[in-house]
Amino acid sequence: MTRINGRRLIADLRRLAEFGKAGTGVNRVSFSGADIESRVWLRERFQAAGLDAAIDAVGNVRGVSAQAARAVVIGSHTDTVPMGGWLDGAMGVLYGLEIARSRIESGRQGQLGVDVVSFQDEEGTFLPCLGSRSFCGELTQADIAKPKSQAGEPLVEALRRAAYGGPAWRLDKGRHIAYLEAHIEQGPRLEAAKRRIGVVTGIVGIRRFRIIAKGQADHAGTTPMSMRKDAARPLFTFAYRVHADLPAMVGPDTVWNIGVITVRPGAANVVASEAELVVEFRDTSSEVLERIEARLLAWISELDSQGPARLEAHPIARIAPTLMAPDLEALIEAGAAENGTATLRMPSGAGHDAMVLGHHLPSAMLFIPSIGGRSHDVAEDSAEDDIVLGCEVLAAVVERLEARAA
Ligand SMILES: [Zn+2]
Repeated sequence: MTRINGRRLIADLRRLAEFGKAGTGVNRVSFSGADIESRVWLRERFQAAGLDAAIDAVGNVRGVSAQAARAVVIGSHTDTVPMGGWLDGAMGVLYGLEIARSRIESGRQGQLGVDVVSFQDEEGTFLPCLGSRSFCGELTQADIAKPKSQAGEPLVEALRRAAYGGPAWRLDKGRHIAYLEAHIEQGPRLEAAKRRIGVVTGIVGIRRFRIIAKGQADHAGTTPMSMRKDAARPLFTFAYRVHADLPAMVGPDTVWNIGVITVRPGAANVVASEAELVVEFRDTSSEVLERIEARLLAWISELDSQGPARLEAHPIARIAPTLMAPDLEALIEAGAAENGTATLRMPSGAGHDAMVLGHHLPSAMLFIPSIGGRSHDVAEDSAEDDIVLGCEVLAAVVERLEARAA
């Protein structure tokens, strides 16, 4: 059995958190000074572990087990959201480093190598999942030419500034047999279920619609109720139905949200002339997403035909679900059992690099609990024991993969 060194893993995580340190959290958005410095440090750590390390054309830091002909890719990202936490992404990358390093130390890298990677810009400061999409060969020059950061800097300029220059590191189907990504849960489910390891069944697909209603502005005191063309009212009816009627027709893990409502002109004494809301829903099942979409659109056309306000629905986002490989999920469960801990199967409601990799390579994700479910904030944290346990379980998964590949 590969013995990972938990203390060394935590020390590396604490050291990485020094780059962009912001109180208890980390401010290390992609291509910032802290991000660029941290990648140089990471490359040195990979090198010191005995991996063939480099920073590629888009800023991916990779450490390749050069002795092995076949390898499992383990990684995540080390860029953060502005004022983010110390574990989101970083933990998955340093699990890869610790597992690769422990296997090299015990002379096991020859059977099945571990190629470790920190993908660039998962959080999308310039282009979400830039690094993993580049790795999977999904990006054209045109895709890279367009994006700008919120501050207005073009991605091409950021790349020039960072001066990475090397060749892009690419997925090699003759070498890479699977992708494993460990991550903090970023939600409260594991804590609530008192489980320490989550097995991700899939990464949810997202559909988002902007619903626009058009009516007529009138005096809210003098216009009788029966003679108004209130644009807001049918939207409230729609919002009520979403929350009242969806539960009966969705899956156990479906989530939905109405997070934007705008009423114009927006005065207490004026009947709304225009109103809009944005509704989104997420699930790992395309069939469930289809069913919800059909129902929402039917409600909109029903409300539109009732008048007097007119309603339209505009799709504004559509991301397909990504399923994880069931045989790898079973290996995580077996690896957890070997370490004496029970698991919880759950979808990931957040996007991850595995969302990209999952379409190219058998992929799996392991979650550990987030304290209070907090993430994307400096308050993000996890128990050190859970961090170490997650790495032990992932190391056990690699051993099982090795036994299977032999
Ligand atoms: Zn992340």
